[in-house]
Amino acid sequence: MTLRLTPLLLAGLLLAAAPAATAQKKNRKTTPSSTASLAGNAESAIKEADIKRDLFALAGDKYRGREGGTLDELRASSWLAEQIRAIGLEPAGDDGTYFQWFNLQRTRLTPGSTLSIGSHRLRPGHDAVITAPTNARVTAPLVFVGTATPAELAKVDVKGKAVALQISGAPTDGISYRRYLFGKLRDQAAELTKAGAVAVVFISDAPAQAVYDHWSHIFERGRYGLPGDANVKVPAEQTPVVWLPSSDLSWARQAGQQFSTELKVETFAYPSVNIVAKQPGTDAQLKNEYVLFSTHQDHDGVRAAVAGDSIYNGADDNATGCAALLAIMRAFKQQPASRSALFVYHGAEERGLLGSRYFSDKPTVPRESIVAVLNAEMMGRNAPDSAALLGSTAPHLNSSDLVRTALAANQAGPQFKLDVEWDKATHPEGWYFRSDHLPYARLGIPAIMYTSLLHADYHTPKDEPARIDYAKLLRMTQWMYLTGWAVANRPTPPAREVGFKLER
Ligand SMILES: [Zn+2]
Repeated sequence: MTLRLTPLLLAGLLLAAAPAATAQKKNRKTTPSSTASLAGNAESAIKEADIKRDLFALAGDKYRGREGGTLDELRASSWLAEQIRAIGLEPAGDDGTYFQWFNLQRTRLTPGSTLSIGSHRLRPGHDAVITAPTNARVTAPLVFVGTATPAELAKVDVKGKAVALQISGAPTDGISYRRYLFGKLRDQAAELTKAGAVAVVFISDAPAQAVYDHWSHIFERGRYGLPGDANVKVPAEQTPVVWLPSSDLSWARQAGQQFSTELKVETFAYPSVNIVAKQPGTDAQLKNEYVLFSTHQDHDGVRAAVAGDSIYNGADDNATGCAALLAIMRAFKQQPASRSALFVYHGAEERGLLGSRYFSDKPTVPRESIVAVLNAEMMGRNAPDSAALLGSTAPHLNSSDLVRTALAANQAGPQFKLDVEWDKATHPEGWYFRSDHLPYARLGIPAIMYTSLLHADYHTPKDEPARIDYAKLLRMTQWMYLTGWAVANRPTPPAREVGFKLER
């Protein structure tokens, strides 16, 4: 599950979904099963012990958090491919392999970028956040303006100066502090730049420090996209905006200091990988259609330590999905369905759904042959009897036919109480927009996400295998499998919602 997208980023990503593709036209043989029949399934091949063993292996410290585009992600991907080979599924990636390679584009400050305030030398990205990567070269006197109230600003001429100020205030209108803070960083920097400041230095207060602690390592990494994406283009030169921790306040506020920086931006491409496998169907015609089981194998890697632990294991996010797909493969191997089952582990999901954007753009099977996408994302936490099916509520609903099949599978199987709040367009987390079913939904392909939703350990080093509810994860896996089994055996593919269009 990716971090929440900023409204700015979303504006760029929110392209209208393509019109729903025309329904399959060719005649086909009817299959023995009724529309949502679960008869003949191999659910018993899905075992909690297998899921638990696989999850501990993948989310152990050995793979160091599987960060997209790193050797850790590639080693974890090799391990997954070995498991798939042992289960006996066919490769369905590039050139007869289990892999589909693609490039990430990354744009960041060069390690050689420099920043100093008075006698303090700071490493940009490490000791100080630069809020937007930019090429810039500035040397100017630093002036501290307190919390930059109009009264404080009236006392100084900021023209030609680097302006330091302390962040203050908290929202009173119910918006999250993080949104408030990022808005403040952007708007106040713009105002000061307009007034003639040549650099802006924000210093955290206590609440801002909490956000700084969590976000500084995200800023440090820079920006990721697929080659050609707007967010990874090197931006035009702009006023450097620096954000410091609260511990720097005592010296940063002192008068008579010089601010000096030389920032350089670099952009480069490097590989990530999708893992793709299939179990061919048994029906001579329907085997040319695919039910796509989706998940992502990457997580957040090694970052700032929390309580002495720097490995972000991503056990729930998303080793649960990875272990679930291996288990579902075993069931399809034991008893293939009429249609083919396609399994795609998407790389670099946490870097912005990059693997799923790539695969949905360049699928290794004909795109029109993908009849449904069932996406597994964070399935092993929270109350044992609750879960959510994202993509089941308008405007996210793109196939009520598929959703009906999934709800029937829930009734026939695990009988989770389904949360309906998190799929609403008004939900502040925007959960629907943060996982790998999204690029497929944008293309009009029926798509749903299975999830047990957010928890306090999300994107922290505490998301560890020991904290997973394996009995629940087993039932989530069964639910996905039973849905996929029903879809793979029905006479016709799930109907697409007419006029589906994603808006937020
Ligand atoms: Zn995530």
